[in-house]
Amino acid sequence: MANERPRIGFIGLGLMGMGMARNVAKAGFPLTVFNRTRARAEALAGETGCALADTPRAVAEASDVVITMVSDVPDVEQVYLQGGGIREAARPGLTCVDMGTVGADAARRVAAALAEKGVAFVDAPVSGGSWGAEQGTLSIMAGGDEAAFAACLPVFEAMGKKIVHCGPVGMGQTTKLVNQIVGALNLEAVCEGLRFAQQSGANVEAVLDAVGAGAAGSWSWSNLGPRIAREDFAPGFKIDHQIKDLRLALEAAESMGLKLPGTRLVLEHLRTVQAAGGGEQGTQAMITVL
Ligand code: NAP
Repeated sequence: MANERPRIGFIGLGLMGMGMARNVAKAGFPLTVFNRTRARAEALAGETGCALADTPRAVAEASDVVITMVSDVPDVEQVYLQGGGIREAARPGLTCVDMGTVGADAARRVAAALAEKGVAFVDAPVSGGSWGAEQGTLSIMAGGDEAAFAACLPVFEAMGKKIVHCGPVGMGQTTKLVNQIVGALNLEAVCEGLRFAQQSGANVEAVLDAVGAGAAGSWSWSNLGPRIAREDFAPGFKIDHQIKDLRLALEAAESMGLKLPGTRLVLEHLRTVQAAGGGEQGTQAMITVL
């Protein structure tokens, strides 16, 4: 692999992947992309000149480092392990990075299936929302061995501002689930505080300004609070995906004998919004439950 500019493959150009892949292209990496809905890949190719591939396997054949950013556990298993998947292009020297949120068990399963063929794997989920993806300011939480992490670092630097090597494979996902637990409870707090402000007849703009600068300020308050105030429920991060993440967190907690009652409550609220047809809305739509 060339040290300076490895060839990058990118699979999954959704709300997150599109901005991330665009930043990889902008940083000058040779880029090959695949998206299940081809029109999104064609749009990125038109904009950046990146190459298009017909399958995840073809992406891997053209790349030194392959990044995946698809939705859930079955989707990750499909792009890696099923027909036309990345594993069919396995060769020593190839490094694969999954950046979606799928939990540590899935990361370890994919890593083991690739290791049999000499392929390195890093789990590197992210935080920062689709806005962070567009701006290249994501937090990246990586799990994998030192050499594999080092192979990915240049391309991580094109997508993120804070990059932390958290330990072996699975520890990136574990760290991300910590992030999801804290973020979920934070959003619950933001929703409850803003409902209280609205119901009290307070000037919500003033409340947002004053509270954001104090001890209760947070990413959720500053980024989601203003959207809640103007009833903008367009997704940066979909309710459906946060339900997946809290399910993964609660499953992992249960296996360790932990209860996490607050996380359970938030999951219940999110499921209520989902049941009313709001699964594709942004997580800030959780305020509608209150
Ligand atoms: P999204 O907008 O729903 O995009 C999902 C992407 O995965 C799309 O490109 C989709 O292709 C592709 N995909 C899904 N299933 C697939 C399959 N079986 N085979 C091939 N491609 C498949 O989701 P997102 O918001 O970008 O999130 C992606 C991942 O990052 C999720 O795990 C999410 O939890 C995590 N995440 C999201 C955020 C956020 O703020 N949005 C932040 C951190 C982490 P199509 O275009 O064909 O549907």
